[in-house]
Amino acid sequence: NRKFHPMDTVVDCGHGVKIGGDHFQVIAGPCSVEGENLIRIARRVKAAGATMLRGGAYKPRTSPYAYQGMGAAGLDLLMEAGTELDMPVVTEIMDPRDVQLFLDKGVDVMQIGARNAQNFPLLKEVGKTSTPVLLKRGMAESIDELLMAAEYIMSEGNPNVILCERGIRTFETRTRNTFDLNAVPVLRYLSHLPVVADPSHATGYTRYVEPMALAATAAGAHGLEIEVHDAPDQAWSDGAQALTPDMFDDCMRRIALIRAAIEPE
Ligand code: PEP
Ligand code: MN
Repeated sequence: NRKFHPMDTVVDCGHGVKIGGDHFQVIAGPCSVEGENLIRIARRVKAAGATMLRGGAYKPRTSPYAYQGMGAAGLDLLMEAGTELDMPVVTEIMDPRDVQLFLDKGVDVMQIGARNAQNFPLLKEVGKTSTPVLLKRGMAESIDELLMAAEYIMSEGNPNVILCERGIRTFETRTRNTFDLNAVPVLRYLSHLPVVADPSHATGYTRYVEPMALAATAAGAHGLEIEVHDAPDQAWSDGAQALTPDMFDDCMRRIALIRAAIEPE
């Protein structure tokens, strides 16, 4: 709450990468860790200017018959890539019983996905660690409920929470979710925590990712989470919303222009 924290919280994600306040970061990588392509994609996103690497090893799929993720082997691939490229790794945790595994593997940032946004036992369990948590907004979660979910983590002793707007469910069907861009300035007004936007899940279509990434940057987000895949039509999940590495290069250049326009030196 701003009343008790007038200053923005800056979260240290490791590898010298801080987010919040004046620190803006781009988290990029594939939806799922699939294997050897991870390191290729990671090298490209790093070269384009991404500062944190994402990839899901435990995937919350709608169907139990869909690809569920590589599990611990996926965490190993992520950590190898993070070490090689000197980038913090962001990856989703779904089960409180996996917290110790994530700590043992050295995961830099634990992501709580939209489907677990109000999984209170999971929130409390990651709250007992000091590892940064990227907390996504649930698909039917109000801004106040998101802030209370963050309190569940912080009240257990972990102050390192990053909020993420990733779109909510509405009557609109032209996009996968409805990107609530309002949430960016509203969260920045109400909370001291860093605010990230995820235009990939918020829109669901490659063609809309860049415009909404730019809009979120202009709206004051402290960071973006963007899915990138080198062969989107073969991706094991969320190919329809992936940027190719070339598209991501262009997107990063335009993000830098927006940043320079809104925060002149
Ligand atoms: C993801 O980041 O791949 C993901 C599953 O996101 P969300 O929880 O926002 O749907
Ligand atoms: Mn995804």
